[in-house]
Amino acid sequence: PAQDPMKSFYRKDLKIQKATKEQMHTKPDHLQVEKVKFGHTYADHMMTCDWDETNGWAAPKIEPITDLKIHPGAKVLHYASELFEGMKAYRGLDNKIRLFRPEMNMARMRRTAARAALPDFDAEEAVQILIEMLKIDQEWVPYSNVCSLYIRPTLIGTDPTLGVAFSKNAKFFVITGPAGQYYATGFQPVKLLADSRHIRAFPGGVGAYKMGCNYAPTIWVGKEAEKKNCQQVLWLNGEDEEITEVGTMNIFVLWKNEQGELELVTPPLHKGLILPGVTRDSLLELAREMNEFKVSERIFYMEDVKKALAENRLFEMFGCGTACVVNPVGSIHYHNKEKNEYEDWNIPTMKSKYNVMQRFYDTIVDIQYGRLERPGWTRE
Ligand code: PMP
Repeated sequence: PAQDPMKSFYRKDLKIQKATKEQMHTKPDHLQVEKVKFGHTYADHMMTCDWDETNGWAAPKIEPITDLKIHPGAKVLHYASELFEGMKAYRGLDNKIRLFRPEMNMARMRRTAARAALPDFDAEEAVQILIEMLKIDQEWVPYSNVCSLYIRPTLIGTDPTLGVAFSKNAKFFVITGPAGQYYATGFQPVKLLADSRHIRAFPGGVGAYKMGCNYAPTIWVGKEAEKKNCQQVLWLNGEDEEITEVGTMNIFVLWKNEQGELELVTPPLHKGLILPGVTRDSLLELAREMNEFKVSERIFYMEDVKKALAENRLFEMFGCGTACVVNPVGSIHYHNKEKNEYEDWNIPTMKSKYNVMQRFYDTIVDIQYGRLERPGWTRE
């Protein structure tokens, strides 16, 4: 199809200005890179592309990373007209650099853009531009099978007018930076704060979209969790304490259900409370192929977890997402709202004889680092 700037930006139009030696930053060396703090170090180049209502998308640019210049009246700064993605590039032992299902991230980004009243673009063109960026900054992809290059595509409304209204200007940009090792000393089971007074998403809201406005309000709750020695928040919904997500991850539980069937369960997407994770989708597909247990996307409640624990039929609970692949839950610090008291529940994830979380982890990282081929799940 012919190019149409009202529909998308295009890789073919890409303008590339490479960083000079002076503009290049020092890369963390081989030994340091595993320890780099997430989001503290950036690669040398960024991609930017401007959009306006009259002309559509301008030519995308790759240039040395620098500050953005935006008007203080820009809608992003007042009404959080912002959305983003999180994905990674992995360097395999074969020295090939792979993206993991990037089409899914770009599809999610387009859905979020539509909901945020920001402009649409072609997902495949965006993936191809990411690949061009990775070619230029390839030395920033760590030579390590436990690290990666994190990629942060972002879209903001830049219209410098203060009305709560459709943004007539927007900017798409991508920054990247090395991500260190998540589990330096093996899996670290996390303690979760579960308190139904804190809500991340609600029916009719935007929890299913990756908008910045979903994340800022969770920072304070995270601090409250920290005060109670919890590393993450278990996000509940409603009076009946439906389980939705954990931190910035989707959640899975392996248990024997009330019918006595071994079941892997994760909350369903249809209520709009849950971010449709790429990892979630991948684990569901792997689980269905394993054919060892029932796989369900269905609603479940704190009460179900409590009962399963009491009856010794809950085996594993874990979060999943791009950052860590999987993250075991070791305990829950639960606010019992009837008694207004806290209870501590032990979750025996690390003792599970089924080892489902571990096997998911191994399979996903093997695919990401090219040790296991899975056609359609990686892009070189
Ligand atoms: N839920 C939320 C709220 C998230 O921010 C993320 C991270 N994108 C996830 C789940 C996991 O999604 P993914 O597997 O695509 O990283």
